[in-house]
Amino acid sequence: MAKGRSAQEDVQAFFDPAAERLGLPVGVRAMLCAPWRQIQVSLPIRRDNGDIEVFTGYRVQHNAARGPYKGGIRYHPHADEDEVRALATLMSYKTALLDIPFGGAKGGIQVDPAALSQAELNRLTRRYTRSIHHLLGPYRDVPAPDMGTNAQTMAWVMDEYGQLHGANQAVVTGKPVELGGSLGREQATGRGALDVLTEAAPDLGLDLRHARLVVQGFGNVGSWFARLAHGEGARVCAVSDRFGAVCSDGAIDVEALSAYVAATGSVAGFPGAAPCDPDDLYEVECEVFVPAAIENVLTEETARRLRAKVVLECANHPTTPEADMVLNERSIPVLPDVLVNAGGVTVSYFEWTQNLQQLSWTLEEVNQRLRARITEAYRNVRDTARREGLTLREAAFLIGIERVARAAMLRGFV
Ligand code: NAD
Repeated sequence: MAKGRSAQEDVQAFFDPAAERLGLPVGVRAMLCAPWRQIQVSLPIRRDNGDIEVFTGYRVQHNAARGPYKGGIRYHPHADEDEVRALATLMSYKTALLDIPFGGAKGGIQVDPAALSQAELNRLTRRYTRSIHHLLGPYRDVPAPDMGTNAQTMAWVMDEYGQLHGANQAVVTGKPVELGGSLGREQATGRGALDVLTEAAPDLGLDLRHARLVVQGFGNVGSWFARLAHGEGARVCAVSDRFGAVCSDGAIDVEALSAYVAATGSVAGFPGAAPCDPDDLYEVECEVFVPAAIENVLTEETARRLRAKVVLECANHPTTPEADMVLNERSIPVLPDVLVNAGGVTVSYFEWTQNLQQLSWTLEEVNQRLRARITEAYRNVRDTARREGLTLREAAFLIGIERVARAAMLRGFV
């Protein structure tokens, strides 16, 4: 969150100009600005040492005009009501932009998952699921992994939900493949980001085979993006995570780095590149800066220091409205989060579809369908931006908000 302002207010700053341009009635704006439902739950669990500890969890269901609520569950010490609410709002516009038949939601537990054992995480996830199970369901609200959660977490949610309601794989996405997860879901967000970048490259004057990339965050999204981009010939020249950063004048061997992170838990100390300060990443000269970690890393100050030609927003809400203005002034195009990281929810939709039909698609089919859908969304954003004289973010919000507002009006409940 930018200093003194809530995450929700930041999202509002992107919403207001689009609503104005669309001429949305005041009442419709009010409906889109408030989540339809939100819940806070208290989650006592027994720690491995016998102590009882209480965590706080949230689920915010922003809008379901276009279909069941859909959105990740985040485990992070800063996951609070404001952050989860802002992320739920972004999900509504993301699913609409990709034309996926879902609404928007988000969940979170205020916890550092690295501080809990697997057994403790299992108990916490089950307690959370029991506390919100009445709001979930394949046609109600379908969670997925987000920061700090993964396929294992979704398996626990599915199992706990199944014990209460009867087995149903379609209640979560991002599950292990053995339990009905889709092939390609784990890589989907990074792959979708690369699909967008590849499609946008000619418009942005980039040659990806020689492009230098700086990647902030090396978890699910950052590492898959870096590995796939490296495979296409791009040069990953700096990478950071919450523990440290490494950089190279040439190209980092991303496969070796991934193996190192799998063994040690961090990029810090990777012998194949030089250590550097994570804060220096903003000043590494590159073609593409890729925030793939947390919110609000691009502030007015860091945006001025950036030495990139393009920003590819893999993380959710990495750019404050002030930074957005600075980047605009500096003619650094931003490929926005609601488009760039939508590969995850797109393949989640494919997973849900496969579960409902009890069949499975090949990896090639999943990847092809993902590329077709996300590149079409990019072209739609680009064409709207050109036609209306907008930034890519403004255009993406315009399309997403218009679709959600129209669906709400067509349903006739306002
Ligand atoms: P993750 O937990 O797998 O990885 C997060 C990475 O960011 C880790 O490498 C962590 O060390 C690093 N990190 C944390 N704080 C940092 C800091 N201050 N500076 C640098 N690095 C830091 O999470 P993820 O699933 O890869 O999600 C990353 C971002 O992408 C989040 O904003 C998330 O909401 C968004 N996202 C994820 C998905 C998905 O499918 N996983 C889909 C859409 C959007």
